[in-house]
Amino acid sequence: PGIVVALDGTSGSGKSSTSRGVAERLGLRYLDTGAMYRAVTCWMLRHGVDVHDAAAVAARADEPRLESGLDPSAPTITVDGQDVAVAIRQADVNAAVSPVSAVPEVRARLVALQRALIDEALADGSGIVVEGRDIGSVVWPDAQVKVYLSADASARASRRAAEEGGSDVAATEQSLLARDQIDSGRAVAPLVMADGAVHVDTTAYTLDEVIAQVVDLVAV
Ligand code: C5P
Repeated sequence: PGIVVALDGTSGSGKSSTSRGVAERLGLRYLDTGAMYRAVTCWMLRHGVDVHDAAAVAARADEPRLESGLDPSAPTITVDGQDVAVAIRQADVNAAVSPVSAVPEVRARLVALQRALIDEALADGSGIVVEGRDIGSVVWPDAQVKVYLSADASARASRRAAEEGGSDVAATEQSLLARDQIDSGRAVAPLVMADGAVHVDTTAYTLDEVIAQVVDLVAV
């Protein structure tokens, strides 16, 4: 059977770059569960659903048809057949994704989809790196390797602002902290360090150093 690497952590801790790098180095598949929550959020916004009305979001949680590509060198995400890779990184989705992710019906649906994708990757490959907030705690508690990434808020904001092509760092930091607060405080699957997770604080390390640390954990 293949290996599952669960990589959880706060917004902007370097999860995506690290996960993709580790998957490429080890020849594993890659799943970005944050992109799935973002894609559902994008669909809700496009369909005029009030994202702050949990009942309204819950009522339509089963409707968006999601497809996630698992290639770490070219991840893809579509909803109802439409490529939303760019749209899911926009400010409107950043602002709405945490309330949508706090809706239990949304989580139940996406966790089931994520488990099916992991099963698929295990059936036809050597394994998968899965990044999110609740992978080691809820989605796949039996993951052979669990990593919890964190970094100082200012480091996270500068990295994310640079990724976004030069957004305002202070505004980006506020947006990250607002999401962290909702993600850590919600009733269902709050962001926690999973049992057995190795904590890596990435503030003082380069991306290559963090990738190397995680690869070492997998190889041990
Ligand atoms: O990882 P990313 O920052 O793209 O995730 C966006 C949002 O999706 C998070 O702030 C969180 O609200 C939600 N999320 C989640 N559970 C996951 C992955 C993401 O609730 N496994």
